[in-house]
Amino acid sequence: MSVNQQAHAGPPYGQPQPGYQGYQQPAYGGQSLPGVPQSQYGAYNGPMPGYQQPVPPQGSLRAPPTSGAPPPASGASHPSGHLAYSQFEHGDVQNGIPASAAPMQRPPAPQPFLPGSAPTPVSQISTFQQYGPPPGSVQQLRNHMAGMTIGGTAASAPPPAGLGYVSGSFSATGSGLHTPYSASQGPPPASVSEGLPLAQPPFPGHTVSTQRLPTQVPAFTPPPPSTGVAPSSYPPTTGAPRPPAMPGPPLPGQTVPAPPSSQPNHVSSPPPPPPPSTMAGLHPGPPMSGLHGPPPPTHPPQPGYQMQQNGSFGQMRGPQPNYGGAYPGAPNYGSPPGPPPPPKRLDPDSIPSPIQVIEDDRNNRGSEPFVTGVRGQVPPLVTTNFLVKDQGNASPRYIRCTSYNIPCTSDMAKQSQVPLAAVIKPLAALPPEETLPYLVDHGESGPVRCNRCKAYMCPFMQFIEGGRRFQCCFCSCVTEVPPHYFQHLDHTGKRVDYYDRPELSLGSYEFLATVDYCKNNKFPSPPAFIFMIDVSYNAVKSGLVRLICEELKSLLDYLPREGNMEESAIRVGFVTYNKVLHFYNVKSSLAQPQMMVVSDVADMFVPLLDGFLVNVNESRTVIASLLDQIPEMFADTRETETVFAPVIQAGLEALKAAECAGKLFIFHTSLPIAEAPGKLKNRDDRKLINTDKEKTLFQPQTSFYNNLAKDCVAQGCCVDLFLFPNQYLDVATLGVVPYQTGGSIYKYAYFQLETDQYRFLNDLRRDVQKEVGFDAVMRVRTSTGIRATDFFGAFYMSNTTDVEMAGLDCDKTITVEFKHDDKLSEDSGALLQCALLYTSCAGQRRLRIHNLSLNCCTQLADLYRNCETDTLINYLAKYAYRGVLSSPVKTVRDALINQCAQILACYRKNCASPSSAGQLILPECMKLLPVYLNCVLKSDVLQPGPEATTDDRAYIRQLVTSMDVAETNVFFYPRLLPLTKADVDSDSLPAAIRNSEERLSKGDIYLLENGLNIFVWVGVSVQQSLIQNLFGVSSFSQISNALSTLPVLENPFSKKVRSIVDMLQGQRSRYMKLIIVKQEDKLEMLFKHFLVEDKSLSGGASYVDFLCHMHKEIRQLLS
Ligand SMILES: [Zn+2]
Repeated sequence: MSVNQQAHAGPPYGQPQPGYQGYQQPAYGGQSLPGVPQSQYGAYNGPMPGYQQPVPPQGSLRAPPTSGAPPPASGASHPSGHLAYSQFEHGDVQNGIPASAAPMQRPPAPQPFLPGSAPTPVSQISTFQQYGPPPGSVQQLRNHMAGMTIGGTAASAPPPAGLGYVSGSFSATGSGLHTPYSASQGPPPASVSEGLPLAQPPFPGHTVSTQRLPTQVPAFTPPPPSTGVAPSSYPPTTGAPRPPAMPGPPLPGQTVPAPPSSQPNHVSSPPPPPPPSTMAGLHPGPPMSGLHGPPPPTHPPQPGYQMQQNGSFGQMRGPQPNYGGAYPGAPNYGSPPGPPPPPKRLDPDSIPSPIQVIEDDRNNRGSEPFVTGVRGQVPPLVTTNFLVKDQGNASPRYIRCTSYNIPCTSDMAKQSQVPLAAVIKPLAALPPEETLPYLVDHGESGPVRCNRCKAYMCPFMQFIEGGRRFQCCFCSCVTEVPPHYFQHLDHTGKRVDYYDRPELSLGSYEFLATVDYCKNNKFPSPPAFIFMIDVSYNAVKSGLVRLICEELKSLLDYLPREGNMEESAIRVGFVTYNKVLHFYNVKSSLAQPQMMVVSDVADMFVPLLDGFLVNVNESRTVIASLLDQIPEMFADTRETETVFAPVIQAGLEALKAAECAGKLFIFHTSLPIAEAPGKLKNRDDRKLINTDKEKTLFQPQTSFYNNLAKDCVAQGCCVDLFLFPNQYLDVATLGVVPYQTGGSIYKYAYFQLETDQYRFLNDLRRDVQKEVGFDAVMRVRTSTGIRATDFFGAFYMSNTTDVEMAGLDCDKTITVEFKHDDKLSEDSGALLQCALLYTSCAGQRRLRIHNLSLNCCTQLADLYRNCETDTLINYLAKYAYRGVLSSPVKTVRDALINQCAQILACYRKNCASPSSAGQLILPECMKLLPVYLNCVLKSDVLQPGPEATTDDRAYIRQLVTSMDVAETNVFFYPRLLPLTKADVDSDSLPAAIRNSEERLSKGDIYLLENGLNIFVWVGVSVQQSLIQNLFGVSSFSQISNALSTLPVLENPFSKKVRSIVDMLQGQRSRYMKLIIVKQEDKLEMLFKHFLVEDKSLSGGASYVDFLCHMHKEIRQLLS
């Protein structure tokens, strides 16, 4: 489905423009539209003579609304920050305009939604008359359905409210936005174009005779910025994989290893850890760079752990043996093995430190609000805690860009190789101090839009002719102002109601959509949630089925509600399954739930219409009874096989019959090998790693799920998948539908009730309660000269411009890449407008608009001064993670290195002051590019460690693709905190340290988090009193690494550490797995994998080595 396919009987403004495939084009019917030619905007390339950068409001009595306070309740007195809006509300219009001239439709406090305050399309469905005819015939029903009434326990009382739930307690935890770090005053540092000379003296200009050949990139081309040409070796603009099925050979006789007691969230198989020290002697390979002089000595295997004393931890410092493994082009160094002279080490303290950069930004920018009134401002880093005041541009919580100053020409962009991309999180949760986007209701006429490009009214539209017309800031077309929207202009040419209207003064706001924006020209019904529980042997045996049913009894009282509505409008339904499906009738009038079995899974249908989707309150007793009985009914099951595709089909058919969008929550345990559509075979084969066929491990084994996903998107059927595998279950294939419908995947390998239930339940609670939009379509419009060319994320695209998501939640991001199709002007800058059409959880159709204005430059130095490396890494990781679907992993890695070398070489050549060739010079804004890029290169997707399974890699690949910038930042460069340095009397966190083993002291305890896991590492020499206080045991050896939570002990250290853990958990969109690691314990291998500045066991370079390698690459490009 696409927005284009939604019929619109009467486009509010004008005819659909030729070539334009916007919201107004009637073509609904489920068929794909042909690809839109890339030149579709060609006609709009005219100059924009009338466009002027709006002046940020200042010093006026009519102050713009601030984001500093929640929206006022209706009728309540408005806080001063909302004075302007309340003025409007009371008809107090200045400049002599009669109050009646101002349209009054907009509710005074449009957010949250107040029933009755607007013409609402919400229909409070409590009956099911709207169900269509059954999809299956009566004959089918007779043939395949065994109806029965479940006997047993009487309906139970309503579940106790809560079990500790706090409504909304999971709702406002934007990733990384609430870091409680204090920050001191200070202006932002001036951007330094001179770059960063490294080390004193810098690299000694040492040249080596055996230069490595430039990196060859045979098939995989790096993303050419701003060429307007999509990279040929990648799938087309769809962000989702649709390669041909390439089933690999099944892995015969795969045995299931016993579940390890503690594993990282994404790691499924017990690691076979070779001690790190043995690796050192294996490949006495040379260092990658000539900067160090001769190769390093080879260290003998070192038993145990050495304290880092000024470099005595030689193995971890300087060039590291086996480095060549990462860059197979390198090893011909020409130096025989043997005891060479000691290398000149690069001092790790002299190279750019992520910790320092993060700390500096906090200190410089954390104390002042980020005010969005000025074009092209680079926001504070995602690791800085700051408030945002919307004064005309979207908050960085919604949109972040790789650069806020983009080259005027595509030649410049090509030369720099800096990708131009925006990471957009349209429904991002905001901290409580900030205001959600206001909801604007223009009544039946709907939002005001440009006649030609259909851009929505925004602060950058230019009103002319006394306010009778406006010129579009995107395409320059002049459009009549509709009579109801007319307003006079003041002496500066600004409408006098500028500050009264969110769409004229704010960067982000919402419009209430009219029926023209609805499928089939009908306002949508409220969405439904369907819970679909695997009841095969594994699921029952592990206690999972009972756990889910118990949890749902209370969780159903916390379904998302709109605004201050008393109860959720979302209806619920229940299905259980193994080889067959069981549907449940939980109609409120029944004394007991009824089960209907569908055993013909080849042609899925829904055997009941009335009573399947119900209101929780109305059917409370029947639902409770059902949830009590399900674990009992299947307690003795011997069925081990499952189906999967028919489960999704069943949910899809149910939503179709109910004519609504919704979400399927599927709890699944095994590879679906039962005879059914979408049946899979075990094709895991680790031998494919590092071969040309490795990409097949990331591809689905059948195209069946791609087609199913397309059907789901057309219906607005979003799939969230909770996986509990004990062995390979082909995440790459099972994940296709969740991924393409905008859903989420959670994976709990070797799920054990005792250790994993808390994490799973936290994830489930948050997932069920979080804000989500349904049946969503996103379109990004740009001003003349650039256009969106590529998209990354969890969605489906049936044409080249519209990103379709059956569901979009507050944690999901879409990364959009832009290319030039014309010259840009420094005066006009560049504009983005992201419009998201979606159905709210109460069934209200809305448009959320985000606008962002960027600067344009004719000097490359301006580009490099206004980049954001964290966003760049987010883009590059997603680009690379898509690349592995079609190219060998090594090719992808080489292309990443090559592109970043080109970015830095271009800076060196065009922006840096002359200096010795031996000196590495990095732009200030990109000085962390090498260290972060190295982390991406070493990640399990691009360079798997021995412990990463095929499913782990597929899981991570899909997960990262939807991550926001804060999440990718901490995922690739984890946060490492010395817990023993924490001040127990303060709320602050201990200062983070760099991710290297040599930074660890054996007398301390550390915490490392990456958004999926929290490791607590305990040194062998930690004081016994600290161990007692934290773990409640008397010695190091008694610490159990089977702990999944820290014991609750009444002492300051225990409280402090637990509060830190809780705070970190609250910042992340998923509940992180806690893993206790004792120094020299076997689990330490896993922990060391996340010490990303060190050389990794899988051959990933250390930061020092990689920096030297990058330097060499840059010098080769420059020579
Ligand atoms: Zn336009």
